Amino acid sequence: MTPPPWDCGHPRAVLHVDMDAFYASVEVLDDPSLRGRPVIVGGTPEGRGVVAAASYEARKFGVHSAMGAGRARQLCPDGVFLRPRMDRYCELSAAIMAILRGYTPLVEPLSIDEAFLDVSGCRRLLGAPPVIAADIKRRIKAETGLTASVGVAGNKFLAKLGSDLEKPDGLVVIEPSQGRARIAELPIERLWGVGKVASVQFREGGVERIGDLLCHDPIALEARFGPHVHHLRALAAGLDDRPVVPTHEAKSVGNEITFAEDIADAAQLRAIGDELADKVARRLRSDGLRARTVVLKARYPDFTTLTRSVTLPAATDGGVEFRDAARELLEHRLGRGRRPLRLLGVTAANLVQPGDGAPAQGSLFGEPARERNQAVDRVLDQVAGRFGPLLRRGARAGRDPDAD
Ligand SMILES: [Mg+2]
Repeated sequence: MTPPPWDCGHPRAVLHVDMDAFYASVEVLDDPSLRGRPVIVGGTPEGRGVVAAASYEARKFGVHSAMGAGRARQLCPDGVFLRPRMDRYCELSAAIMAILRGYTPLVEPLSIDEAFLDVSGCRRLLGAPPVIAADIKRRIKAETGLTASVGVAGNKFLAKLGSDLEKPDGLVVIEPSQGRARIAELPIERLWGVGKVASVQFREGGVERIGDLLCHDPIALEARFGPHVHHLRALAAGLDDRPVVPTHEAKSVGNEITFAEDIADAAQLRAIGDELADKVARRLRSDGLRARTVVLKARYPDFTTLTRSVTLPAATDGGVEFRDAARELLEHRLGRGRRPLRLLGVTAANLVQPGDGAPAQGSLFGEPARERNQAVDRVLDQVAGRFGPLLRRGARAGRDPDAD
């Protein structure tokens, strides 16, 4: 598709990326026989649980998240009710956030499946914001198989509102100069921070649409709805200067290599995977972090890209565990036979800081083996930086030229 135009004079450009029916979409991704069926993830209809996510097919029956699962069963008796698989959702979330951080470090995740990006500074390198948004959607789809909806605007509020307007698989651009007019006719509950209760109060007070907030006398509005109404009036005017605040701790640590020439040799790929895994583990140790998930990324000569991940029994920073996981993924989970690769990447995700409730890494190895492995890791840490063998093999490290 051709991305819509963008007002180049505006200083800020914010994207809100939101995955479509995330949990339900992951279930369909992992079990294609569910495609086209009403999928409802959450508590069992027999229990007292609630719906965590519903596919768009299920939403046609009136099923939505936070609804009791029993009620969902009444509305949609033929629905496929599934229990959530949080580990799997976290794996894919980590892969998605890693994609987003490839565009800018200014990524602020709002939840497991949505994030803000400030791309104001990326325009010269990556193009106009709608172009970046379209590219992000394409990459998420290509690398995870899932669709995202993206809102593009001059601030967070309008970007978030935009991502929701044309779900699923939407790309909505709200030009900064048109923000106010674009949202004036939307119902008042579309305003960020206006919940069910507040929307009823607003409607009783004659405020039905977002634009109505700007038509009423501000003093009268404050008397009736409190001082918070001034913030809402600013949003209604399309104004929002809240910055995108990136999370400070890394949510994943990864490395990837694009080869100068495609590599088909299994032993060579295994060795490269080992080195990438080692480097990631070293980085975790130097940052005092451990990871529960190892993600392998592989790109083929035709540019199709696959992402596969494995969740370890315990969070670890051990090179041996990462190498084993990378080999397992490379040799058994890639499912593409012996085709040559043009890129290989290893990422550690689901990061934890020892001390915040993470179990120690004792369950994988017996004590002596673990001590031996840790001794090897210490030696590797001392020679860190000598990441040379890959270069000798004729591969080159660095950014993937087609990553942008
Ligand atoms: Mg979502």
